[in-house]
Amino acid sequence: MQPDYSRQMLLKEVGAAGQAALAKSRVLIVGLGGLGSPVLQYLAGAGVGVLGVVDDDALHASNLHRQPIYALDEVGALKAPLASAAVAKLNPDVRVEAHAARLTADNALELIRAHDVVVDCSDNFRTKFLINDAAVLARRPAVFASIYQYEGQLQVYKPLARHACLRCLWPNATADGVVGNCAEAGVLGPVPGAFGALQALLTLKILLDMPGQLDGELLLLDFMNFSSITLKAPRRSECAAPACALIRDLPREDQDIEMHVPSLAAAAQLPAVLIDVRSAEEFASAPTPARHIPMPTLLAHPELLSAQERYLLVCASGKRSLAAARELRRRGLAVHSLAGGLQALTPRHAHDS
Ligand SMILES: [Zn+2]
Repeated sequence: MQPDYSRQMLLKEVGAAGQAALAKSRVLIVGLGGLGSPVLQYLAGAGVGVLGVVDDDALHASNLHRQPIYALDEVGALKAPLASAAVAKLNPDVRVEAHAARLTADNALELIRAHDVVVDCSDNFRTKFLINDAAVLARRPAVFASIYQYEGQLQVYKPLARHACLRCLWPNATADGVVGNCAEAGVLGPVPGAFGALQALLTLKILLDMPGQLDGELLLLDFMNFSSITLKAPRRSECAAPACALIRDLPREDQDIEMHVPSLAAAAQLPAVLIDVRSAEEFASAPTPARHIPMPTLLAHPELLSAQERYLLVCASGKRSLAAARELRRRGLAVHSLAGGLQALTPRHAHDS
């Protein structure tokens, strides 16, 4: 069976020429979660020639309600190869270049340069700003979405005067942990699903050179009451297109900030004080032997930690603990984050299997 694009080719904005343009396009999708699922599906269905996917995470059972490209019997496997297999079923003409890695300052520029558009499907500000900065340096369009519970926002960066970059709007990047992300805050699956579908639409519009690409606008959607607001998002004067005076080079991560340990017992053997930064509710429902200091308290009161000690922070998925470790390191404290969080540790209940 051959892929059939006839229903989109009927559109005068697509046609045979548009379809040929899609087949020659390369799109990079950073993050294969609730936003990345629909982006991947719709771009693969549309016949985009090459989809680069970047995600170092394994599938967790709690992901499935918002990431329906995966299946329950795939839990535990890496998402990048799973996504590749899902696309092969949907449209074998699309080539997936799977990178089971994290987007970092070391690979971001090269990856983004090798694609026509980058789609930000990440769930943390650090990655969003890394994508932004690399897209500006590489002069590639980027399609951003951020969601929080029932609301979210969409923004398109292009190396043109009418498109602001993230730093035009937020010159002082927000630190992670100030607001939640999907791993900790609750979310209904269709919310990232809808935003991801809109990111896929914006990406197709860019590839097809269609109007309505959120030129100099920020679109805010609230799915609790279905309200929408379009804000003017002007480019800052110091961010003269296509370059940006605010962006020099990409921030690098401390090599040893994350620690990989197989179990909490092994973590307790390390010469580091274990601190659980989850909320009081999370800690009460699944306590750990660690000292419990919720992340907002820890960031507001770094004096709770001693400059003479070494610390290992732990949370559910390793995202909050990593964000907190970065912040505390900036204040000169010796802090590490347990990679992957509690969900990556060996289950203690062998009889559960
Ligand atoms: Zn800018």
